[in-house]
Amino acid sequence: MNFCEGCNIACEGERCPKCGRKKLRAVTEDDFCLVAQVDRIFGDNLKNNLESEEIECVLMPYGTGVKAQFAMPLESYLLYVRYKNLDYVRQILKERKG
Ligand SMILES: [Zn+2]
Repeated sequence: MNFCEGCNIACEGERCPKCGRKKLRAVTEDDFCLVAQVDRIFGDNLKNNLESEEIECVLMPYGTGVKAQFAMPLESYLLYVRYKNLDYVRQILKERKG
């Protein structure tokens, strides 16, 4: 698995799916990887749940600035977790949707 340091994205391929960068390095267990965009309430709850399981996560505010001027109802977050927790957290998100 490779890792784009510009986007914090772990990807299978040689090229970052987001920015197209080709000089990717191998991902490490402790790299923070982008998981998904989540809404603010869900993100806050998830962070609490993950912290109670001693899983680190980072929430970056998203949807402020330009979007706020169009009265988006809720701010959202971009959710990042360490690569070693990525599958686990993806599973949580999947279960929530299903
Ligand atoms: Zn990238």
